[in-house]
Amino acid sequence: MGKQYYCDYCDRSFKDETDARKKHLSSLQHINNKANHYNQFKDPRDILKEESKKIPCNNFINYGECNFGNNCRFSHLTPAMVWELQRMVAWKDELLRSQQMRNVPNNNEIIDEYFQCPIVTSDENDEIINYPIWNIPSELKNYPNLPPSLWPITPESVTDVNFGKWG
Ligand SMILES: [Zn+2]
Ligand SMILES: [Zn+2]
Repeated sequence: MGKQYYCDYCDRSFKDETDARKKHLSSLQHINNKANHYNQFKDPRDILKEESKKIPCNNFINYGECNFGNNCRFSHLTPAMVWELQRMVAWKDELLRSQQMRNVPNNNEIIDEYFQCPIVTSDENDEIINYPIWNIPSELKNYPNLPPSLWPITPESVTDVNFGKWG
């Protein structure tokens, strides 16, 4: 048996040959499975908004299936799925509301606080307390081409690290 190619989206494997792989990756089945996979991570609110613009798919209503799958220009959402998505949206809203009520700091506030409150572990560090907080100097604020190391720190700059460029 030669090398096998395993497709995660379709949960099947086949002989790893360029032609076979090309054929599989361009097959409707594979494209649908892949789209389904990424749809799981889509915001339910976005899905509802997109689907509400579409007319319900006749194939899907009458036969419970449609060959166009995710590429269908009509909506494949059943009333049960719409209800489920609406519930998810409501749940997310509720979570956000309760976080705001409990004053959970957002990412920007956490970063600001981190730079403004040096962590002091013992009395020896007394001088750290009076250490000036680093802020971008005002004369640099309007300077157009700052090197990245001088950019103010934001939640995006902390989480959007491009590992591909490292090393
Ligand atoms: Zn596949
Ligand atoms: Zn359809």
